[in-house]
Amino acid sequence: MSSTDAISGQAFQYVEVAMPLPFRRTFTYRLMPELAPFVQTGARVLVPFGKRTLTGYATSFHNQLASDLDAETVKNVIELIDPEPLINGEILDLTKWSADYYVAAWGEMLKASLPAGINAAVESIFTVSDSGRLALLRAKSTKAGKWQILQHLVENGPTDQTDLGKLFGIATAKRATNELSRSGHVLTERETATAKVKEKRQKAVRLLSAQIPADAKPLNDVQKKIIYSLQTAGGEMLFTDLLERAESGASPISTLAKRGMIEVYIRDVRRDPLTGADLPEIDILTLNTEQAFVFGEIEKALSVGDYKAFLLHGVTGSGKTEVYIRAMRTALEMGRSSLMLVPEISLTPIFSRRLRAVFGQSVAILHSNLSPGERFDEWRRINRGEARIVIGTRSAVFAPLENIGLVIVDEEHDASYRQNESPFYHGRDVAVMRAHSANAVIVLGSATPALETYHNAQTGKYQYLQLQNRIGGRPLAKAELIDMRDVFKLAGKDVVFSQKLIEAIKETHRKGEQTIILLNRRGFSSFVLCRSCGESLRCKNCDITLTYHRRDRRIVCHYCNYHTEPPDVCPFCESEFLYFIGQGTEQLEDMLVNQFGDLRIARIDRDAMKRKGEMAKILLAFDKGEIDILVGTQMLAKGHDFHNVTLVGVVSVDTGLGLPDFRAAERTFQLLTQVAGRAGRGELPGRVLIQTYFPEHYALKHAVNQDFKGFYNEEIRYRERMGYPPFLVLAAILIKHKDDKYAVRSGQLLREALDRTNSDKALRILGPAAAPISRIKNEFRFQLIIKSPNRKTLRERVDNAIVEAETLGCDKRILQIEIDPVNLM
Ligand code: ADP
Ligand code: ZN
Ligand code: ZN
Repeated sequence: MSSTDAISGQAFQYVEVAMPLPFRRTFTYRLMPELAPFVQTGARVLVPFGKRTLTGYATSFHNQLASDLDAETVKNVIELIDPEPLINGEILDLTKWSADYYVAAWGEMLKASLPAGINAAVESIFTVSDSGRLALLRAKSTKAGKWQILQHLVENGPTDQTDLGKLFGIATAKRATNELSRSGHVLTERETATAKVKEKRQKAVRLLSAQIPADAKPLNDVQKKIIYSLQTAGGEMLFTDLLERAESGASPISTLAKRGMIEVYIRDVRRDPLTGADLPEIDILTLNTEQAFVFGEIEKALSVGDYKAFLLHGVTGSGKTEVYIRAMRTALEMGRSSLMLVPEISLTPIFSRRLRAVFGQSVAILHSNLSPGERFDEWRRINRGEARIVIGTRSAVFAPLENIGLVIVDEEHDASYRQNESPFYHGRDVAVMRAHSANAVIVLGSATPALETYHNAQTGKYQYLQLQNRIGGRPLAKAELIDMRDVFKLAGKDVVFSQKLIEAIKETHRKGEQTIILLNRRGFSSFVLCRSCGESLRCKNCDITLTYHRRDRRIVCHYCNYHTEPPDVCPFCESEFLYFIGQGTEQLEDMLVNQFGDLRIARIDRDAMKRKGEMAKILLAFDKGEIDILVGTQMLAKGHDFHNVTLVGVVSVDTGLGLPDFRAAERTFQLLTQVAGRAGRGELPGRVLIQTYFPEHYALKHAVNQDFKGFYNEEIRYRERMGYPPFLVLAAILIKHKDDKYAVRSGQLLREALDRTNSDKALRILGPAAAPISRIKNEFRFQLIIKSPNRKTLRERVDNAIVEAETLGCDKRILQIEIDPVNLM
């Protein structure tokens, strides 16, 4: 939409601007007449905001001020950043919808939808004042951050906020510069830093004519070489390449240009994430009967051209990917574009190569391992309509593809679709909404669908499609539980590896095959488990594991704040072998090394992931058979295809079950099912050994039998009985501050305001209670948990309660609202 009124032909006076800050509302600014005709919705504008100058997003135009605003106080838009709007209408609507759905700020959602680095920043630059110099001289001790910063400014001259943040830590720098400017010790200037990522341009040279006019001077040697180089390179070269190839300086090139034989120009250089990548061969496969049926159903829906959602439930290795590729090709043939979301794992480069081999330059790739420049260029190719197929991780759901006909979410249950920082959103759920408003077909694929997704397939919201058999009829790995209570009784002491697992590892090695050992290291929190009966202590209100706090010897429920002393004996079997789990997992790899000194052992975890290339190197070595045992966390469970792995050992499955999270059972079931998919991918049969103190747990029992249906039936009953999703909507409000009393007070005020909006008790409100991680970086964390029958009631009451609580002194800035929280931590 442009800012000109279609009826009157006059430009509008006011624009509503969404700010990338935690505000649920937009802000009104005046458009000066000279700017007004050029501003369109979806464009970024620079506006004054409090004392700062910030970038916001134009969302709508009008001539009528709201009643609480008067024309005097409305400020002017300072500058228009994008003459061509960056955000199209569809993405504007989608981000608005997402912001409401997740009770988040529209501006933050808009910012999250754009490739990182594109947002123009306004940078504050600090200079020390005379009073600052004096104060520094007089200071008794200069240890505090603010003195350190003053010292830095004295020694290095004016410095911007970003650099100070890098040197002293972002929070420290911010706090100190605020304080210093308030006391007049520093002077602040602002300037617009241009976007960090830009188009990449390079000088290039093009051959116009190799013929020398008859009357002109002949060419000298260098000039000849230049022409020759250009001819052999096909008529065009980068300027720098030409200099090198022709061993020339710049001046012969400009002489030739003046003579009209060549032309120097500037060209856009595309940063292609797949430059130089080996593309795989494309196999021409014939779909098997199951695949053909599934594909037929999707094809039918595509030709209808309306919204339709499918759950594609297919065991690992059942050929889902092949179905996705065919469906995308079909959509493309119908003139519609496709969006495919994949989890954030290292698999993406392999898969994107495959897509590039099939679809060529129509594919754009948006994943987290791209450089900012590559991501920016891919995003622009999508924005310009050059790429019609997008494969990407979570935020690619906001890719500016036009005319979407098909959306695919692979491994739809994967936790990485959830954005774990503000603005919180779930890529899969936004994808469903996007498909809905674009009249597109959406396919949610998984071997272990999320409970909510499967529930939707049961109620008929999604059509259920199934691939029950692995390609080539390979059997799934055989899984067994090892009862660690027996192992404990027999050994009379703590053992990490059961004899059975040790034997299996040795046996596997003897046969020249490989082993994966999986640690469940998300178990940061301790809980109490009985070594004799395997029960763990749970909250009587919430049926959630109670967390053990060693420091004050208490067990606490992190949902409702119920707490008590840990019992001396097990309340179920009266055994005194209570086990405070959650310690010692770090030493597991060392123990393996001690136990199997002669085997080659490597480890993969989140730290290894961070070092670029490290993960790939280890995986490659493992694939080549240069490593015997690979130890890792959940990420090893996903996607990889190692043909010589025949044994998977799961060592600490109970730490996963013991998490104070209502999804603990579901997570464990998914993990074990995925892990079983890792063993026996090749010709050799696979085996999975799971060590547990609680073999009766339904998540384990059903995972061992690969029985999704059985698991679902038990889990859905638990969710219904205890009032968890999909039966109720859940929200978590995290309150964090370095002063615990301050945080609690804000939490209490919010709780009271919520209670007042909730006279009919439609919401169930729990807390504030200490969050499971009750303190991070010296900040105390508390949480309120809210259960609501629907989203609308939840959103309205939370929005209202926050406004009301704020007027009573609740500090809104320390609140973080999360709807459909995935990790209640
Ligand atoms: P999933 O995505 O369900 O885990 P994939 O699509 O990766 O499964 O398929 C597993 C393997 O089977 C791949 O190597 C794939 O190339 C192969 N495959 C898929 N469909 C067929 C088919 N119809 N005929 C032969 N091989 C196939
Ligand atoms: Zn017991
Ligand atoms: Zn509780």
